[in-house]
Amino acid sequence: MGSFDRKVLVLDSRYEPVKVVTMELGFVLLYAGRVTSVQDSDRVIHGVSRSWKVPWIVRLEGCRPRTKRLNGPRFSRQNIYLRDGFRCQYCQCLGLASTLTLDHLLPSAKGGKTTWENIVTACKSCNMKKGAKTIEELGIKLQRPPSRPQLHPTALFPLRYGITTKNSPPVWLPYLDLSVADRALALGFEASPVFIPVFQQDPGIQV
Ligand SMILES: [Zn+2]
Repeated sequence: MGSFDRKVLVLDSRYEPVKVVTMELGFVLLYAGRVTSVQDSDRVIHGVSRSWKVPWIVRLEGCRPRTKRLNGPRFSRQNIYLRDGFRCQYCQCLGLASTLTLDHLLPSAKGGKTTWENIVTACKSCNMKKGAKTIEELGIKLQRPPSRPQLHPTALFPLRYGITTKNSPPVWLPYLDLSVADRALALGFEASPVFIPVFQQDPGIQV
């Protein structure tokens, strides 16, 4: 079961995933009436004189649905690789995070900015060949112009915790979109808690 065998998946009132918490916190939320059980389990927390069952999945009651994304994802090396599907945008070869580079479409020497619209993923070989030239000078055509990514937050949620199809508890699978995480984590993206927060408002379930 991997590292999630002592964890609880928390859903919002629309059954969208918002958090993974420890069994202990899941237990506190459940018995404080903050959440209801969606999927029971046989897992127990042992107290001094008795034991309590802890569910696999809980749902927040009456919390606000997630707000719309405001700023989009953080501008970072890994997020650009993720946007470009870990493919060199010049030759379309697939690479690992450790072997890819970033390249300015319009070179910085010619006034090119470091923005979502001017930075693309490039393999080392293409990056060397391109040097300080522009793609027009080299006759390269991009398959799509780079832009700020618009990934749905539900697809990004598993990345926050490093959840993949392989290590997810089977009972969580119907509630998770693992299409992005499976590919990104296999290609060397590191699960990162700082990746997501700009997308969603935390429903405030810390206790
Ligand atoms: Zn290339």
